[in-house]
Amino acid sequence: MICVTLGRTRHKMVIAEHRALAEQGARLVELRLDWLKRMPEIHRLLDERPTPVIVTCRRRQETGKWRGDEDQRLALLRQAIVSGADYVDVETDVAEQVPRYGDTKRIISYHNFKETPDDLEDIFADMQRLDGDYLKLATMANTPEDNVRMLRLVSEADVPTIGFCMGELGIPSRILCGKYGSPWTYATFSSDRVLAPGQLSFEEMRDVYHYDEIDAETRVFGVLGDPVGHSYSPLLHNAAFRHEGLNCVYLPLRVPRDVLLSTLKEFEALEIEGYSVTIPHKEHVLEYAPYLHETVTDCGAANTLYRNEQGKWFATNTDYPAALQALRRGLELLHPDDADLDSKKVLLLGAGGVAKAIGLGVIRAGAGLTVANRTNKRGKELAGQLNCQHVNWENRGSVLADVLINCTPVGMYPNMEETPFPQHWLRDGMLVFDTIYNPENTLLLKQAREHECYTISGLEMFVLQAAEQFDCFVRRPAPVEVMRETLRQGISPVRLN
Ligand code: NAP
Repeated sequence: MICVTLGRTRHKMVIAEHRALAEQGARLVELRLDWLKRMPEIHRLLDERPTPVIVTCRRRQETGKWRGDEDQRLALLRQAIVSGADYVDVETDVAEQVPRYGDTKRIISYHNFKETPDDLEDIFADMQRLDGDYLKLATMANTPEDNVRMLRLVSEADVPTIGFCMGELGIPSRILCGKYGSPWTYATFSSDRVLAPGQLSFEEMRDVYHYDEIDAETRVFGVLGDPVGHSYSPLLHNAAFRHEGLNCVYLPLRVPRDVLLSTLKEFEALEIEGYSVTIPHKEHVLEYAPYLHETVTDCGAANTLYRNEQGKWFATNTDYPAALQALRRGLELLHPDDADLDSKKVLLLGAGGVAKAIGLGVIRAGAGLTVANRTNKRGKELAGQLNCQHVNWENRGSVLADVLINCTPVGMYPNMEETPFPQHWLRDGMLVFDTIYNPENTLLLKQAREHECYTISGLEMFVLQAAEQFDCFVRRPAPVEVMRETLRQGISPVRLN
């Protein structure tokens, strides 16, 4: 179950929002009394409540907003119990001052906004002596491994225990706690009002992660990167799993560069079956996989890690075939009878990981390749590795190319008024491939269409690389059209993460 945390400054707004949440399907709502500007009127909030509620009033030390004195706060919690609140949240140190009464269930809670302490198990043992119906632990994750420790504690608990880590690094535990027996997780009522670090919105928890369907059998996948907050992969893969009726969940796994290998080792305890791999781990991850696909050996980088039939980790690179597939589809539009790359002149902008992978594919397909990069030295180095032409960034407009491929982030959200290739350099009838997928229609592609060029968006490449990963993860073809539509709908210029 998802418990939606609701904090508003006026009673009227709390009541209206609570009703709206019930209409959206919320089954448990936490009323944060500390958010109210005036003295909370318990009866007003509880009479005619549309769902069961947890009454909570957080002090400043737990980053709450309560400004009154402690006696008043405890009196409010006692009043909530006498008024028949379904649950009351009492912090460990005051649990004995707010006694049990009637049918109200007691949640004994422990918060630590600094860390997931080493003595978590001792703290938990002490909490068990405080007459709780439920125990709640919310601690800050400072390493990805903290998720593992917390989830282990939840799975071994004899008392119903809600346990998760806070902060961006703790997001996996917020989504996975149900798999390990947590009776519910917490989500915020609005993505604009995050009431605790790392908290996801009710909408996201329900519609992207399908939290209520996660159980002990759920298979786990995720994207490894730093940052990963901006990634559309969870949206895409979760939609595909759902469409195919698979009991699987895909998580954003923020893993700092220096702890990748130790984290992968720790994550073995969570039995994660497959990863998408993004910046900055695409090269380093090869050290974890005993088996490498030839695309990986070619590019020196992987974007996918999954277990092969023998249960061993296998690394592959689905960016590479996806880009070539997208390019071929574009060429079919350009020359239906001659969709091969072998006779084409290609100008590649950029010299990073994606440029290297695509450049290699283009060369292998027999095209004539020229590389241009903002840092000319790096562009020259890539041209040397690929054994192809190089042109200085300033002179990129002088290349007479049939195909232009942008592998730089120029024109990406939020800098959508930028283009890596001024309009007057575009030639009628060229094929222009922009690997950027947010926005789908970059300025480069818009201007290319004005020149009657054929265009391919990075969205196509992104969908195809994810579809190929899906196939590796669950060994069945991906619902590509569903993924394409999901990404299209998910990408919006106002999306910030
Ligand atoms: P990367 O390794 O960081 O390389 C970035 C490249 O862009 C470098 O060559 C860099 O030049 C150049 N660059 C950065 N800022 C620039 C600017 N302001 N002006 C001109 N050039 C600039 O990144 P990557 O992993 O190769 O990714 C590159 C792009 O590919 C991403 O931004 C993304 O839009 C796209 N991408 C698409 C997909 C997909 O599936 N569609 C997947 C991954 C990536 P310097 O050498 O001078 O720094």
